[in-house]
Amino acid sequence: MTVIERFLKLVSFDTTSSEESGQHPSTPNQKVLGAELVRQMQELGIQDARMDAFDYVYGTIPANCEKNLPVYGLIAHMDTSPDAPGGPIHARITEVYEGGDIILNEEQGIVLSPREYESLLNHTGKRLIVTDGTTLLGADDKAGVAEILSAAELLLASNLPHGTVKIAFTPDEEIGEGADHFDVAGFGAEYAYTVDGGAIGELEYENFNAASALVEIAGLSIHPGSACGKMVNASLVAMEFASLLPALETPYFTDGYEGFFHLTDMEGSVEHAKLSYIIRDHDREKFEARKAVLEKAAREIDRRYGSGTVKLTIRDSYYNMKEKIEPCMFLVDQAKSAMLELGIAPKVQPIRGGTDGARLSFLGLPCPNLCAGGENFHGRFEYVPVEDMEKITKLLATILWNIAK
Ligand SMILES: [Zn+2]
Repeated sequence: MTVIERFLKLVSFDTTSSEESGQHPSTPNQKVLGAELVRQMQELGIQDARMDAFDYVYGTIPANCEKNLPVYGLIAHMDTSPDAPGGPIHARITEVYEGGDIILNEEQGIVLSPREYESLLNHTGKRLIVTDGTTLLGADDKAGVAEILSAAELLLASNLPHGTVKIAFTPDEEIGEGADHFDVAGFGAEYAYTVDGGAIGELEYENFNAASALVEIAGLSIHPGSACGKMVNASLVAMEFASLLPALETPYFTDGYEGFFHLTDMEGSVEHAKLSYIIRDHDREKFEARKAVLEKAAREIDRRYGSGTVKLTIRDSYYNMKEKIEPCMFLVDQAKSAMLELGIAPKVQPIRGGTDGARLSFLGLPCPNLCAGGENFHGRFEYVPVEDMEKITKLLATILWNIAK
């Protein structure tokens, strides 16, 4: 099976995860894919391939040389984002792309165009795997899963020396729970790479520090005809709270290393209002300062309307893995040099988001993130170039071969 055949098979499984279910895994279909992955691993000769009760799939490629080498891991996730329909996916491979529009769906008039998605122009001369415009593709992260399995096949078929390689496929990354039940000790790797990045060449070891904040506002409802001097309208107070935050520090106005406050949800009546925020910043001090801004706003609202008007709950989600990767920068360097060797231009950039690798890094498994090759993640215009998936497969094997040189 080629990496492309493997990928097309994997995307036929709908593994959309769910933020609401509260189950582990969050959706039962992920277990169906987990079982398929165990089957494929066994077929490759990975003897100890197994799925645990939480739907984590693990396996080992034993070392084929005597050298005392560190154990490396490769990790990808098998769920897809709940932000877009996850199936049934009608994937197809285009002709060699020469620029211009790609008609995804004649009937519905859905077109993938470089006018909206400039990245297409980076991929002329390649064949692209696209959808019919009604679902996501699932290259995030089934491209990573397929590349890891095909890299395993390369390692097992070659007699080039390599150390012990551990493989893991995780559920529920897209809902931020991919590391929740990861058995770091049982996995047994000293270092790992997640293969969950975007376009070929992407290499990441910095991500946001992340927290969520829930702002609950208690109002006082009185008949509006006799409310003079008494009513506290929670919805209006919520708007007042929002106005106390820096207006230009939102996702729309920020880029690169700039952090933000992001209002993700609001609801309100006179009696009660609720604002949900996420807070993001690469810099830990600025991240803490952002949380302090929310606390200050809450105190100010309480000062204006009486104590207990605002209930603020802030919860940290994950931290920037940079501090955990910096002591082992060779992980980044060896990925870079393998890329250069294969003619891939490395693009090291901060992630404006998180990865499972960030949380795993804080659990003691330093884990930079490698490209999986796809573009336009989490949407109906997601696509992945065939040639890039083939190259990334080779890249994974090359990194592991080079370590044994
Ligand atoms: Zn992903």
